[in-house]
Amino acid sequence: MRELAAIGRFARRATRPTARIERGIGDDAAVLRADGLCAISTDTVVDGVHFTTHGYTPSEIGHKALATAISDLAAMGAQPGEVLLSIGLPANASEEFVDGLADGFVGFADEVGVALVGGDVVAAPVLFLAVTVVGWAATGERLVGRDGAAPGELVGVTGTLGAAAAALLARDQVDEALRERLVRPRPRLAEGRALAQLGVTAMIDVSDGIASDARHVAAASGVALHVRLDRLPIAPGVEDVAAALGRDPGELAATGGEDYELLFTARPSLRTAVENTLAELGCPVTWIGSVEPGSGVAFSDQHGERRDLRGFEH
Ligand code: ADP
Ligand code: MG
Repeated sequence: MRELAAIGRFARRATRPTARIERGIGDDAAVLRADGLCAISTDTVVDGVHFTTHGYTPSEIGHKALATAISDLAAMGAQPGEVLLSIGLPANASEEFVDGLADGFVGFADEVGVALVGGDVVAAPVLFLAVTVVGWAATGERLVGRDGAAPGELVGVTGTLGAAAAALLARDQVDEALRERLVRPRPRLAEGRALAQLGVTAMIDVSDGIASDARHVAAASGVALHVRLDRLPIAPGVEDVAAALGRDPGELAATGGEDYELLFTARPSLRTAVENTLAELGCPVTWIGSVEPGSGVAFSDQHGERRDLRGFEH
């Protein structure tokens, strides 16, 4: 398919514009009216590296490329606004394939209120999608980095862990609910914004598994994180997959990536407010550990025995 034709298939499914858009698709650049803080992030997914065109439908590829990118905005507590999409398209991509991509991408953009304002289409040897998202915080609203955690605080995590990893490992035998978590992840946008406004001190999205994402928070904040493996909220169905594979479910939940949950730190006085606010959003929250002086991440089991994080890296 020709590049111009591919652009048209995205542009035709125009997303609902946001009030900031002065100019969208079709000019040399998009023009946005800025107000407050702007958070910008980009993410690229490549066939054979982040997904395969055999394991995912075109619509799932489109959905997941956007979900992965806006999960970073959720982790800042930003309200997603606009998105740019660059596609590397192999010469043999069919019209149906591009339509599927566009349906998945624009469909999810509409669902979360993100407007597609531009992009690029280039010929490439393998399919890739590079997604740049623009998020906003109104004047007076907070955005949360990875660097604010302090000793004495609690470590919390939204939702459940391990589902995407279990779906990836179990492949064909996996049930639909687990597979859905892998192929159509739903970033915690409302939760991230609510946690930011409540005053959590550090936040990150769990894209590589908490074993490595918690390490980023510890390093950026100059503290140690202590995580209780036995308290991890393991997603339903993960225990069965772990048992079938002879793996420890806690280890799978800690090291498996692509959960797109939020890991955050908060002062103990915020505990009830966090629990109530997330309950109102229908989102489970689990307190999985504490912030301590030092560096790195320590895991322990129910007996309080500390285990080296490195044992949990892939
Ligand atoms: P240019 O040659 O100026 O880069 P293009 O032909 O690449 O222009 O793109 C024309 C218009 O279509 C631009 O406004 C661009 O942002 C938009 N566009 C290109 N690809 C996409 C895409 N995948 N999704 C949305 N808009 C796109
Ligand atoms: Mg171009």
